[in-house]
Amino acid sequence: MQAEKLFDLKGQVAVVTGAGSGLGLAITKTLAANGAHVALIDLNPETLAAAYQWLNGQGYSAESHQIDVSDSAALRATIDGIAEKHGHLDILVANAGISGGPNSRTDAGAIENVSDELWNRVVDVNLTATFVAIQSAAKHMKKQKSGRIVAIASIAGLRGDPMTGYAYASSKGAVVNLVKQASWELAPYNVLVNGIAPGPFRTNIAGGRIREPEIEKAFADTVPLGRIAETDEIMGLALLLCSKASSFMTGAVIPIDGGTVAV
Ligand code: ADP
Repeated sequence: MQAEKLFDLKGQVAVVTGAGSGLGLAITKTLAANGAHVALIDLNPETLAAAYQWLNGQGYSAESHQIDVSDSAALRATIDGIAEKHGHLDILVANAGISGGPNSRTDAGAIENVSDELWNRVVDVNLTATFVAIQSAAKHMKKQKSGRIVAIASIAGLRGDPMTGYAYASSKGAVVNLVKQASWELAPYNVLVNGIAPGPFRTNIAGGRIREPEIEKAFADTVPLGRIAETDEIMGLALLLCSKASSFMTGAVIPIDGGTVAV
């Protein structure tokens, strides 16, 4: 292993879901900056176009696909198409996600008020689409006998979470175990599967409500480092898990949370 090239992704093809904004955008930028061709998937045409144009402007190699990841057929066809066009698929970052309604500590978020509609939408986007993305990528990676898969979970999936609602925490908890299940099944094929469990980041999730000063303070007060994170602070861990620097890591779900779950 060449120490100076530990993070080099030149020649690799990476798919990132939810690439238009927030953590997905930051991860896409760092993968591209380190040499990967990035295939962006997102529901929102405006942010997707802006992300694609920014990458082009930097001279990075990119393509974009506007789909709803909860449309399983469309997600499968998109990932298959990317893998077939390039002849290989090296990295999947399953990141697309939604917030999942009111906090369980509020009346609106109390267990009796969680609607089927909210529950199903959150599970479809956060869990089922993560499964379908991993399933689709794994099909190609197993044949290649190589690949990296990173799923974005949440600290809300590591323990009961006082800052979110039932659907979000439950879907993210399932993503944590999905990573572990896929990691052992895919290990013999040299496909490494890990998760990232972010604490509060300054993203557009929940309509960017975390940017409101009162809400930001409520989150920051739960974090030993005393603040929420900027989206770029996900880059180092994501790059590590997509690169050969982490060649003996699989089945790990790593918090990046300013110390929140250590308390
Ligand atoms: P975070 O980075 O915290 O997840 P953001 O809302 O900033 O929060 O980013 C999530 C991204 O995932 C957005 O770009 C959003 O458009 C995308 N996304 C959410 N739901 C879907 C979906 N059903 N299909 C595709 N992309 C989605």
